[in-house]
Amino acid sequence: MLDLIIIGAGTAGIAAYKEAVKYTQNLLIINDGPWDTTCARVGCMPSKVLISSANRLYDIQHADEVGLAIKAEIDTTQIMTHVRQLRDRFTKATLKDVESWDNSHKISGKAKFINHNTIEVNQQQYQAKNFIIAVGSTPTFDSEWKKELQERLITSDQIFELEKLPKSLAVIGSGVIAIELAQAMQRLGVETTVFARSQKVGALSSPQLQELAQLTISQELNILFKTLPQKVEKITQGVKIHYSQNNENKKLEVDYLLVATGRQSLLNTLSLENIHPEYQDLKKLPVNTQTKQLASLPIFIIGDAFTNTPIQHEAAHEGRMAAHNCLNTPIKNIKTLTPLAIMFSSPEMATVGQSYQTLKEQNIDFITGFASYQKQGRALVLGKNKGAIEIYIDKKSKKLLGAELFVESAEHLAHLLSWMIAEEVTLDELLIKPFYHPTLEEGLRTALKHARRQLD
Ligand SMILES: Cc1cc2nc3c(=O)[nH]c(=O)nc-3n(C[C@H](O)[C@H](O)[C@H](O)COP(=O)(O)OP(=O)(O)OC[C@H]3O[C@@H](n4cnc5c(N)ncnc54)[C@H](O)[C@@H]3O)c2cc1C
Repeated sequence: MLDLIIIGAGTAGIAAYKEAVKYTQNLLIINDGPWDTTCARVGCMPSKVLISSANRLYDIQHADEVGLAIKAEIDTTQIMTHVRQLRDRFTKATLKDVESWDNSHKISGKAKFINHNTIEVNQQQYQAKNFIIAVGSTPTFDSEWKKELQERLITSDQIFELEKLPKSLAVIGSGVIAIELAQAMQRLGVETTVFARSQKVGALSSPQLQELAQLTISQELNILFKTLPQKVEKITQGVKIHYSQNNENKKLEVDYLLVATGRQSLLNTLSLENIHPEYQDLKKLPVNTQTKQLASLPIFIIGDAFTNTPIQHEAAHEGRMAAHNCLNTPIKNIKTLTPLAIMFSSPEMATVGQSYQTLKEQNIDFITGFASYQKQGRALVLGKNKGAIEIYIDKKSKKLLGAELFVESAEHLAHLLSWMIAEEVTLDELLIKPFYHPTLEEGLRTALKHARRQLD
Protein backbone atom coordinates (compact mmCIF):
# COMPACT_ATOMS: atom_id res chain seq x y z
CA MET A 1 0.00 0.00 0.00
CA LEU A 2 1.42 3.34 -1.11
CA ASP A 3 1.34 6.40 1.17
CA LEU A 4 0.14 8.65 -1.62
CA ILE A 5 -0.94 8.65 -5.25
CA ILE A 6 -1.07 11.98 -7.09
CA ILE A 7 -3.17 11.97 -10.26
CA GLY A 8 -2.20 14.70 -12.71
CA ALA A 9 1.23 16.32 -13.10
CA GLY A 10 0.32 19.91 -13.91
CA THR A 11 1.16 22.87 -11.70
CA ALA A 12 -0.84 21.50 -8.76
CA GLY A 13 0.30 17.85 -9.05
CA ILE A 14 3.96 18.78 -9.50
CA ALA A 15 3.87 21.07 -6.45
CA ALA A 16 2.19 18.30 -4.44
CA TYR A 17 4.82 15.72 -5.52
CA LYS A 18 7.78 17.99 -4.73
CA GLU A 19 6.44 18.61 -1.23
CA ALA A 20 5.36 15.00 -0.53
CA VAL A 21 8.63 13.43 -1.68
CA LYS A 22 10.41 15.28 1.15
CA TYR A 23 8.48 13.06 3.59
CA THR A 24 7.98 9.74 1.78
CA GLN A 25 9.46 7.75 -1.09
CA ASN A 26 6.45 5.42 -1.06
CA LEU A 27 4.41 7.42 -3.58
CA LEU A 28 3.33 7.60 -7.21
CA ILE A 29 2.47 10.41 -9.58
CA ILE A 30 0.42 9.52 -12.65
CA ASN A 31 -0.06 11.79 -15.62
CA ASP A 32 -1.96 11.52 -18.85
CA GLY A 33 -0.29 13.33 -21.76
CA PRO A 34 2.68 15.72 -21.65
CA TRP A 35 4.38 16.41 -18.30
CA ASP A 36 5.09 20.08 -19.01
CA THR A 37 1.90 21.61 -17.50
CA THR A 38 -1.01 23.48 -19.05
CA CYS A 39 0.45 26.75 -17.75
CA ALA A 40 3.79 26.41 -19.56
CA ARG A 41 2.57 24.65 -22.72
CA VAL A 42 -0.79 26.20 -23.65
CA GLY A 43 -1.69 28.61 -20.84
CA CYS A 44 -0.07 31.40 -18.84
CA MET A 45 3.29 31.44 -20.57
CA PRO A 46 2.65 31.29 -24.36
CA SER A 47 -0.29 33.67 -23.94
CA LYS A 48 1.92 36.17 -22.14
CA VAL A 49 4.62 35.88 -24.85
CA LEU A 50 2.02 36.62 -27.54
CA ILE A 51 0.60 39.53 -25.51
CA SER A 52 4.09 40.92 -24.99
CA SER A 53 4.79 41.01 -28.76
CA ALA A 54 1.35 42.57 -29.33
CA ASN A 55 1.85 45.29 -26.72
CA ARG A 56 5.34 46.13 -27.97
CA LEU A 57 3.99 46.52 -31.49
CA TYR A 58 1.13 48.66 -30.21
CA ASP A 59 3.58 50.86 -28.30
CA ILE A 60 5.74 51.29 -31.42
CA GLN A 61 2.69 52.14 -33.51
CA HIS A 62 1.57 54.64 -30.85
CA ALA A 63 5.04 56.06 -30.19
CA ASP A 64 3.64 59.52 -30.97
CA GLU A 65 2.19 59.41 -27.44
CA VAL A 66 5.74 59.98 -26.19
CA GLY A 67 6.81 62.29 -29.00
CA LEU A 68 8.32 59.72 -31.37
CA ALA A 69 7.49 58.61 -34.89
CA ILE A 70 8.52 55.00 -35.55
CA LYS A 71 7.41 52.63 -38.28
CA ALA A 72 7.03 48.97 -37.45
CA GLU A 73 7.28 46.05 -39.83
CA ILE A 74 6.07 42.67 -38.75
CA ASP A 75 6.51 39.13 -39.98
CA THR A 76 3.72 37.11 -38.44
CA THR A 77 5.57 33.80 -38.96
CA GLN A 78 8.42 35.22 -36.89
CA ILE A 79 6.02 36.21 -34.10
CA MET A 80 4.56 32.71 -33.85
CA THR A 81 8.04 31.15 -34.00
CA HIS A 82 9.08 33.44 -31.14
CA VAL A 83 6.02 32.41 -29.11
CA ARG A 84 6.88 28.74 -29.54
CA GLN A 85 10.60 29.15 -28.96
CA LEU A 86 10.12 30.93 -25.65
CA ARG A 87 7.28 28.56 -24.72
CA ASP A 88 9.59 25.59 -25.39
CA ARG A 89 12.17 27.10 -23.09
CA PHE A 90 9.61 27.16 -20.26
CA THR A 91 8.29 23.66 -20.95
CA LYS A 92 11.85 22.28 -21.17
CA ALA A 93 12.63 23.71 -17.72
CA THR A 94 9.58 21.92 -16.29
CA LEU A 95 10.44 18.66 -18.08
CA LYS A 96 14.04 18.83 -16.83
CA ASP A 97 12.72 19.06 -13.28
CA VAL A 98 10.35 16.09 -13.83
CA GLU A 99 13.19 14.05 -15.40
CA SER A 100 15.24 14.49 -12.22
CA TRP A 101 12.59 12.65 -10.19
CA ASP A 102 12.89 8.96 -9.35
CA ASN A 103 11.55 7.04 -12.38
CA SER A 104 9.81 4.50 -10.16
CA HIS A 105 7.56 7.31 -8.86
CA LYS A 106 6.19 8.24 -12.30
CA ILE A 107 3.63 6.59 -14.56
CA SER A 108 2.37 7.95 -17.87
CA GLY A 109 -1.26 7.02 -18.48
CA LYS A 110 -4.87 7.83 -17.70
CA ALA A 111 -5.90 6.85 -14.18
CA LYS A 112 -9.38 5.89 -13.00
CA PHE A 113 -10.75 4.83 -9.65
CA ILE A 114 -11.77 1.22 -9.01
CA ASN A 115 -12.83 1.98 -5.42
CA HIS A 116 -11.95 4.50 -2.71
CA ASN A 117 -8.38 3.28 -2.30
CA THR A 118 -7.61 1.65 -5.66
CA ILE A 119 -6.90 3.15 -9.02
CA GLU A 120 -6.13 1.58 -12.38
CA VAL A 121 -3.70 2.87 -14.95
CA ASN A 122 -2.40 1.02 -18.03
CA GLN A 123 -4.40 -2.08 -16.90
CA GLN A 124 -2.48 -2.18 -13.62
CA GLN A 125 -4.02 -1.51 -10.21
CA TYR A 126 -2.43 0.45 -7.37
CA GLN A 127 -3.60 1.07 -3.82
CA ALA A 128 -2.81 4.04 -1.59
CA LYS A 129 -3.72 5.45 1.80
CA ASN A 130 -4.16 8.95 0.30
CA PHE A 131 -4.93 10.50 -3.07
CA ILE A 132 -4.40 13.94 -4.50
CA ILE A 133 -6.48 14.55 -7.60
CA ALA A 134 -5.00 17.33 -9.76
CA VAL A 135 -6.34 16.51 -13.22
CA GLY A 136 -6.92 20.11 -14.36
CA SER A 137 -9.33 21.15 -17.09
CA THR A 138 -9.72 21.38 -20.84
CA PRO A 139 -11.32 24.02 -23.11
CA THR A 140 -15.03 23.59 -23.81
CA PHE A 141 -16.45 23.85 -27.33
CA ASP A 142 -19.56 22.84 -29.24
CA SER A 143 -18.87 19.42 -30.78
CA GLU A 144 -21.33 20.12 -33.65
CA TRP A 145 -19.39 23.27 -34.53
CA LYS A 146 -16.14 21.31 -34.39
CA LYS A 147 -17.57 18.67 -36.74
CA GLU A 148 -18.52 21.40 -39.20
CA LEU A 149 -15.44 23.60 -38.94
CA GLN A 150 -12.75 20.99 -38.15
CA GLU A 151 -9.29 22.62 -38.01
CA ARG A 152 -10.85 26.07 -38.46
CA LEU A 153 -12.29 25.90 -34.95
CA ILE A 154 -9.48 26.39 -32.49
CA THR A 155 -9.15 26.82 -28.72
CA SER A 156 -6.26 28.05 -26.58
CA ASP A 157 -4.83 24.51 -26.98
CA GLN A 158 -4.22 25.10 -30.71
CA ILE A 159 -3.77 28.84 -31.15
CA PHE A 160 -0.07 28.90 -30.27
CA GLU A 161 0.59 26.22 -32.90
CA LEU A 162 -0.52 28.43 -35.83
CA GLU A 163 2.41 28.77 -38.27
CA LYS A 164 1.57 32.41 -38.90
CA LEU A 165 -1.10 34.79 -37.74
CA PRO A 166 -4.39 34.66 -39.65
CA LYS A 167 -5.78 37.75 -41.39
CA SER A 168 -9.02 37.58 -39.43
CA LEU A 169 -10.39 35.86 -36.36
CA ALA A 170 -13.69 35.56 -34.53
CA VAL A 171 -13.48 34.93 -30.80
CA ILE A 172 -16.37 33.46 -28.85
CA GLY A 173 -16.31 34.62 -25.24
CA SER A 174 -15.35 37.79 -23.39
CA GLY A 175 -13.83 36.32 -20.24
CA VAL A 176 -10.19 36.52 -19.21
CA ILE A 177 -8.67 34.11 -21.75
CA ALA A 178 -10.91 35.37 -24.60
CA ILE A 179 -10.11 39.06 -24.14
CA GLU A 180 -6.40 38.50 -23.50
CA LEU A 181 -6.03 36.59 -26.76
CA ALA A 182 -8.47 38.73 -28.78
CA GLN A 183 -6.79 41.99 -27.85
CA ALA A 184 -3.33 40.55 -28.57
CA MET A 185 -4.48 39.31 -31.98
CA GLN A 186 -6.06 42.65 -32.85
CA ARG A 187 -2.90 44.48 -31.82
CA LEU A 188 -0.86 42.14 -34.04
CA GLY A 189 -2.94 43.18 -37.03
CA VAL A 190 -5.45 40.31 -37.06
CA GLU A 191 -8.93 41.69 -37.76
CA THR A 192 -10.66 40.35 -34.68
CA THR A 193 -14.36 40.24 -33.78
CA VAL A 194 -15.51 39.14 -30.34
CA PHE A 195 -18.92 37.54 -29.80
CA ALA A 196 -19.92 38.02 -26.15
CA ARG A 197 -22.92 36.30 -24.57
CA SER A 198 -23.29 39.06 -21.97
CA GLN A 199 -22.39 42.72 -21.52
CA LYS A 200 -19.08 42.02 -19.81
CA VAL A 201 -15.32 42.01 -20.42
CA GLY A 202 -12.94 40.14 -18.17
CA ALA A 203 -13.71 39.60 -14.53
CA LEU A 204 -14.13 43.03 -12.92
CA SER A 205 -17.31 43.12 -10.81
CA SER A 206 -17.45 46.86 -10.05
CA PRO A 207 -20.17 48.31 -12.34
CA GLN A 208 -18.22 51.55 -12.83
CA LEU A 209 -14.91 49.86 -13.71
CA GLN A 210 -16.67 47.22 -15.80
CA GLU A 211 -18.33 49.94 -17.89
CA LEU A 212 -15.04 51.79 -18.27
CA ALA A 213 -13.28 48.58 -19.29
CA GLN A 214 -15.93 47.83 -21.92
CA LEU A 215 -15.66 51.34 -23.34
CA THR A 216 -11.85 51.40 -23.35
CA ILE A 217 -11.27 47.93 -24.78
CA SER A 218 -14.03 48.39 -27.38
CA GLN A 219 -12.14 51.39 -28.74
CA GLU A 220 -9.59 49.03 -30.26
CA LEU A 221 -11.42 45.72 -30.38
CA ASN A 222 -14.74 45.00 -32.09
CA ILE A 223 -16.86 43.38 -29.35
CA LEU A 224 -20.43 42.37 -30.20
CA PHE A 225 -22.03 42.29 -26.77
CA LYS A 226 -25.06 40.07 -26.14
CA THR A 227 -24.51 38.49 -29.54
CA LEU A 228 -23.66 34.88 -30.34
CA PRO A 229 -23.41 33.09 -33.69
CA GLN A 230 -26.65 31.45 -34.81
CA LYS A 231 -24.90 29.21 -37.28
CA VAL A 232 -21.32 28.58 -38.35
CA GLU A 233 -20.27 27.00 -41.65
CA LYS A 234 -16.99 26.01 -43.20
CA ILE A 235 -16.08 27.84 -46.39
CA THR A 236 -13.09 27.28 -48.69
CA GLN A 237 -10.62 29.37 -46.73
CA GLY A 238 -12.24 29.79 -43.35
CA VAL A 239 -15.49 30.18 -41.49
CA LYS A 240 -18.77 31.95 -42.21
CA ILE A 241 -20.64 33.10 -39.12
CA HIS A 242 -24.34 33.92 -39.20
CA TYR A 243 -25.61 36.12 -36.41
CA SER A 244 -28.29 38.66 -35.67
CA GLN A 245 -27.74 42.18 -34.39
CA ASN A 246 -30.50 44.71 -33.72
CA ASN A 247 -32.94 42.27 -35.38
CA GLU A 248 -30.87 42.30 -38.54
CA ASN A 249 -29.36 39.12 -39.95
CA LYS A 250 -25.63 39.47 -40.57
CA LYS A 251 -22.73 37.36 -41.84
CA LEU A 252 -19.04 37.49 -41.07
CA GLU A 253 -16.25 35.60 -42.83
CA VAL A 254 -13.06 34.93 -40.92
CA ASP A 255 -10.03 32.65 -41.22
CA TYR A 256 -10.51 30.97 -37.82
CA LEU A 257 -13.01 30.72 -34.99
CA LEU A 258 -11.40 30.77 -31.55
CA VAL A 259 -13.70 29.35 -28.88
CA ALA A 260 -12.79 30.66 -25.42
CA THR A 261 -16.02 30.16 -23.52
CA GLY A 262 -14.57 28.40 -20.50
CA ARG A 263 -12.91 25.22 -19.39
CA GLN A 264 -14.33 21.92 -18.20
CA SER A 265 -12.85 19.85 -15.37
CA LEU A 266 -11.21 16.54 -16.31
CA LEU A 267 -12.64 14.85 -13.20
CA ASN A 268 -14.97 13.05 -15.64
CA THR A 269 -12.00 10.87 -16.72
CA LEU A 270 -11.61 9.33 -13.25
CA SER A 271 -14.75 7.16 -12.81
CA LEU A 272 -15.37 8.74 -9.40
CA GLU A 273 -18.73 6.93 -9.32
CA ASN A 274 -16.71 3.80 -8.45
CA ILE A 275 -15.95 5.48 -5.10
CA HIS A 276 -19.60 6.42 -4.51
CA PRO A 277 -22.52 6.29 -7.00
CA GLU A 278 -23.46 9.88 -6.06
CA TYR A 279 -20.09 11.10 -7.35
CA GLN A 280 -21.42 10.64 -10.89
CA ASP A 281 -22.72 14.20 -10.61
CA LEU A 282 -19.45 16.12 -10.61
CA LYS A 283 -21.12 19.46 -9.93
CA LYS A 284 -22.43 18.17 -6.61
CA LEU A 285 -19.22 16.56 -5.32
CA PRO A 286 -18.98 17.06 -1.55
CA VAL A 287 -15.61 18.82 -1.63
CA ASN A 288 -14.79 21.02 1.36
CA THR A 289 -14.01 24.46 -0.11
CA GLN A 290 -11.34 25.16 2.53
CA THR A 291 -9.54 21.82 2.89
CA LYS A 292 -10.37 20.52 -0.63
CA GLN A 293 -11.14 17.12 0.92
CA LEU A 294 -13.70 14.86 -0.77
CA ALA A 295 -16.30 14.02 1.91
CA SER A 296 -14.31 12.47 4.79
CA LEU A 297 -12.16 10.35 2.49
CA PRO A 298 -8.36 10.69 2.33
CA ILE A 299 -8.83 12.20 -1.14
CA PHE A 300 -8.09 15.85 -1.96
CA ILE A 301 -9.13 17.56 -5.21
CA ILE A 302 -6.93 20.53 -6.07
CA GLY A 303 -6.05 22.98 -8.84
CA ASP A 304 -8.29 23.65 -11.83
CA ALA A 305 -10.02 20.26 -11.47
CA PHE A 306 -12.39 21.71 -8.85
CA THR A 307 -12.11 25.40 -8.13
CA ASN A 308 -13.52 28.85 -8.55
CA THR A 309 -9.98 30.26 -8.68
CA PRO A 310 -8.45 28.67 -11.82
CA ILE A 311 -5.14 30.44 -11.27
CA GLN A 312 -1.59 29.09 -11.41
CA HIS A 313 -0.30 30.24 -8.01
CA GLU A 314 -3.44 28.96 -6.30
CA ALA A 315 -2.93 25.55 -7.94
CA ALA A 316 0.71 25.39 -6.78
CA HIS A 317 -0.21 26.48 -3.24
CA GLU A 318 -3.01 23.93 -3.02
CA GLY A 319 -0.58 21.25 -4.22
CA ARG A 320 1.95 21.95 -1.48
CA MET A 321 -0.71 22.24 1.23
CA ALA A 322 -2.62 19.12 0.13
CA ALA A 323 0.59 17.07 0.38
CA HIS A 324 0.76 18.06 4.06
CA ASN A 325 -2.90 17.26 4.58
CA CYS A 326 -2.32 13.76 3.20
CA LEU A 327 0.76 13.01 5.23
CA ASN A 328 -0.08 14.78 8.51
CA THR A 329 -3.06 15.20 10.78
CA PRO A 330 -5.07 17.23 11.61
CA ILE A 331 -6.27 18.35 8.19
CA LYS A 332 -5.79 22.08 7.70
CA ASN A 333 -7.42 24.72 5.52
CA ILE A 334 -5.52 25.13 2.30
CA LYS A 335 -7.38 28.09 0.77
CA THR A 336 -5.31 30.54 2.77
CA LEU A 337 -4.04 33.03 0.19
CA THR A 338 -5.43 36.55 -0.16
CA PRO A 339 -7.41 36.47 -3.41
CA LEU A 340 -5.38 37.91 -6.30
CA ALA A 341 -6.44 37.65 -9.92
CA ILE A 342 -4.81 39.50 -12.79
CA MET A 343 -5.89 39.77 -16.39
CA PHE A 344 -3.20 40.73 -18.90
CA SER A 345 -5.37 42.95 -21.05
CA SER A 346 -4.29 46.48 -21.80
CA PRO A 347 -4.79 48.28 -19.46
CA GLU A 348 -4.51 45.30 -17.12
CA MET A 349 -7.41 44.30 -14.89
CA ALA A 350 -6.98 42.95 -11.37
CA THR A 351 -9.12 41.95 -8.44
CA VAL A 352 -7.53 41.79 -5.00
CA GLY A 353 -8.95 40.66 -1.67
CA GLN A 354 -12.72 40.90 -1.68
CA SER A 355 -14.27 42.06 -4.93
CA TYR A 356 -16.98 44.71 -5.15
CA GLN A 357 -19.51 41.94 -5.81
CA THR A 358 -18.54 39.75 -2.84
CA LEU A 359 -18.67 42.73 -0.49
CA LYS A 360 -22.13 43.64 -1.75
CA GLU A 361 -23.35 40.04 -1.53
CA GLN A 362 -22.17 39.82 2.08
CA ASN A 363 -23.81 43.15 2.97
CA ILE A 364 -20.50 44.48 4.27
CA ASP A 365 -20.57 48.19 5.12
CA PHE A 366 -17.72 49.58 3.02
CA ILE A 367 -16.73 52.72 1.21
CA THR A 368 -15.09 52.97 -2.20
CA GLY A 369 -12.04 55.12 -2.81
CA PHE A 370 -11.82 55.94 -6.51
CA ALA A 371 -9.03 57.32 -8.68
CA SER A 372 -9.06 57.91 -12.42
CA TYR A 373 -5.77 57.50 -14.29
CA GLN A 374 -6.83 59.71 -17.19
CA LYS A 375 -4.99 62.74 -15.79
CA GLN A 376 -2.62 60.90 -13.42
CA GLY A 377 0.90 62.34 -13.72
CA ARG A 378 2.98 59.21 -14.22
CA ALA A 379 0.35 57.64 -16.49
CA LEU A 380 0.45 60.75 -18.71
CA VAL A 381 4.26 60.64 -18.83
CA LEU A 382 4.10 57.00 -19.98
CA GLY A 383 1.35 57.69 -22.50
CA LYS A 384 -0.74 55.11 -20.62
CA ASN A 385 -3.32 57.42 -19.06
CA LYS A 386 -6.33 55.13 -19.24
CA GLY A 387 -8.51 53.38 -16.71
CA ALA A 388 -9.25 53.79 -13.02
CA ILE A 389 -9.03 51.99 -9.71
CA GLU A 390 -11.32 51.37 -6.75
CA ILE A 391 -10.22 50.40 -3.26
CA TYR A 392 -12.68 49.10 -0.69
CA ILE A 393 -12.39 50.10 2.98
CA ASP A 394 -14.37 48.67 5.87
CA LYS A 395 -16.36 51.54 7.39
CA LYS A 396 -15.96 50.40 10.98
CA SER A 397 -12.43 48.97 11.21
CA LYS A 398 -11.06 51.16 8.36
CA LYS A 399 -9.21 48.07 7.12
CA LEU A 400 -8.43 47.61 3.46
CA LEU A 401 -10.79 44.85 2.28
CA GLY A 402 -10.16 44.68 -1.43
CA ALA A 403 -9.64 46.50 -4.69
CA GLU A 404 -10.46 46.32 -8.37
CA LEU A 405 -8.04 47.83 -10.85
CA PHE A 406 -8.17 48.67 -14.53
CA VAL A 407 -4.91 50.43 -15.18
CA GLU A 408 -1.40 50.14 -16.62
CA SER A 409 0.80 47.85 -14.46
CA ALA A 410 -2.15 46.69 -12.38
CA GLU A 411 -0.15 43.50 -11.83
CA HIS A 412 2.27 45.37 -9.55
CA LEU A 413 -0.29 47.52 -7.75
CA ALA A 414 -2.38 44.39 -7.14
CA HIS A 415 0.52 42.63 -5.45
CA LEU A 416 1.17 45.57 -3.13
CA LEU A 417 -2.49 45.71 -2.20
CA SER A 418 -2.86 41.96 -1.65
CA TRP A 419 0.16 41.93 0.67
CA MET A 420 -1.32 44.88 2.58
CA ILE A 421 -4.70 43.17 2.85
CA ALA A 422 -2.98 40.06 4.20
CA GLU A 423 -1.35 42.25 6.87
CA GLU A 424 -4.80 43.66 7.76
CA VAL A 425 -3.57 47.20 7.27
CA THR A 426 -5.91 50.14 7.90
CA LEU A 427 -6.47 53.16 5.68
CA ASP A 428 -4.53 55.47 8.03
CA GLU A 429 -1.59 53.04 8.19
CA LEU A 430 -1.53 52.86 4.39
CA LEU A 431 -1.55 56.61 3.97
CA ILE A 432 1.61 57.07 6.05
CA LYS A 433 3.59 54.72 3.77
CA PRO A 434 5.98 56.36 1.30
CA PHE A 435 4.66 57.10 -2.20
CA TYR A 436 7.49 57.94 -4.59
CA HIS A 437 6.96 60.72 -7.10
CA PRO A 438 6.08 60.43 -9.94
CA THR A 439 4.71 56.85 -9.94
CA LEU A 440 1.52 55.00 -10.73
CA GLU A 441 1.36 54.17 -7.01
CA GLU A 442 0.48 57.81 -6.35
CA GLY A 443 -2.87 56.99 -7.92
CA LEU A 444 -3.39 54.51 -5.08
CA ARG A 445 -2.87 57.35 -2.63
CA THR A 446 -5.46 59.43 -4.49
CA ALA A 447 -7.97 56.59 -4.11
CA LEU A 448 -7.08 56.11 -0.43
CA LYS A 449 -7.51 59.83 0.24
CA HIS A 450 -10.84 59.78 -1.57
CA ALA A 451 -11.90 57.01 0.82
CA ARG A 452 -10.65 58.93 3.86
CA ARG A 453 -12.62 62.03 2.89
CA GLN A 454 -15.78 59.94 2.87
CA LEU A 455 -14.97 58.47 6.29
CA ASP A 456 -14.25 61.89 7.75
C1 LIG B 1 -4.73 30.37 -22.20
C2 LIG B 1 -4.58 30.33 -20.70
C3 LIG B 1 -3.94 31.39 -20.05
C4 LIG B 1 -3.76 31.36 -18.69
N1 LIG B 1 -3.12 32.39 -18.09
C5 LIG B 1 -2.91 32.39 -16.76
C6 LIG B 1 -2.19 33.43 -16.14
O1 LIG B 1 -1.73 34.37 -16.79
N2 LIG B 1 -2.00 33.37 -14.80
C7 LIG B 1 -2.51 32.36 -14.04
O2 LIG B 1 -2.34 32.36 -12.82
N3 LIG B 1 -3.19 31.33 -14.62
C8 LIG B 1 -3.39 31.33 -15.95
N4 LIG B 1 -4.05 30.27 -16.53
C9 LIG B 1 -4.58 29.19 -15.66
C10 LIG B 1 -3.49 28.19 -15.26
O3 LIG B 1 -2.83 27.73 -16.42
C11 LIG B 1 -4.13 27.03 -14.50
O4 LIG B 1 -4.74 27.55 -13.33
C12 LIG B 1 -3.15 25.95 -14.08
O5 LIG B 1 -2.44 25.50 -15.20
C13 LIG B 1 -3.89 24.78 -13.42
O6 LIG B 1 -2.99 23.76 -13.10
P1 LIG B 1 -3.50 22.30 -12.74
O7 LIG B 1 -2.34 21.59 -12.14
O8 LIG B 1 -4.75 22.34 -11.98
O9 LIG B 1 -3.88 21.63 -14.15
P2 LIG B 1 -2.98 21.17 -15.39
O10 LIG B 1 -1.71 21.93 -15.47
O11 LIG B 1 -3.89 21.21 -16.55
O12 LIG B 1 -2.58 19.67 -15.06
C14 LIG B 1 -3.49 18.60 -15.07
C15 LIG B 1 -2.78 17.35 -15.55
O13 LIG B 1 -3.57 16.20 -15.24
C16 LIG B 1 -3.58 15.34 -16.36
N5 LIG B 1 -4.75 14.44 -16.29
C17 LIG B 1 -6.03 14.72 -16.61
N6 LIG B 1 -6.82 13.62 -16.42
C18 LIG B 1 -6.00 12.65 -15.98
C19 LIG B 1 -6.20 11.30 -15.60
N7 LIG B 1 -7.41 10.74 -15.60
N8 LIG B 1 -5.13 10.56 -15.21
C20 LIG B 1 -3.89 11.11 -15.16
N9 LIG B 1 -3.64 12.40 -15.51
C21 LIG B 1 -4.69 13.16 -15.90
C22 LIG B 1 -3.63 16.31 -17.53
O14 LIG B 1 -3.31 15.68 -18.76
C23 LIG B 1 -2.59 17.34 -17.07
O15 LIG B 1 -1.28 16.94 -17.41
C24 LIG B 1 -4.24 30.25 -17.92
C25 LIG B 1 -4.86 29.18 -18.57
C26 LIG B 1 -5.02 29.21 -19.93
C27 LIG B 1 -5.67 28.04 -20.60
